[in-house]
Amino acid sequence: MAKTRGKNDLKPCPFCGFHVVTIKGGEGTTFFECGSCKSFVAFRAEVANPVRAWNRRVVEPCTICDFGRRFESKGVRG
Ligand SMILES: [Zn+2]
Repeated sequence: MAKTRGKNDLKPCPFCGFHVVTIKGGEGTTFFECGSCKSFVAFRAEVANPVRAWNRRVVEPCTICDFGRRFESKGVRG
């Protein structure tokens, strides 16, 4: 069994690495806003666990530019 983590254990912004990301609820939509670069990511209602989706998104490298690998190299894992 994996360790249980807190619901709000968000990984840092995938764009700038800033650690404080704000969650905002909408009409069946969850928004994440970076407190530093103001990057804005939304997950629709069909995403059952938007926090997990955000965390997964952080460590998935971009297929075009490989952005995101630097987070893996720091030992950040899902
Ligand atoms: Zn950011």
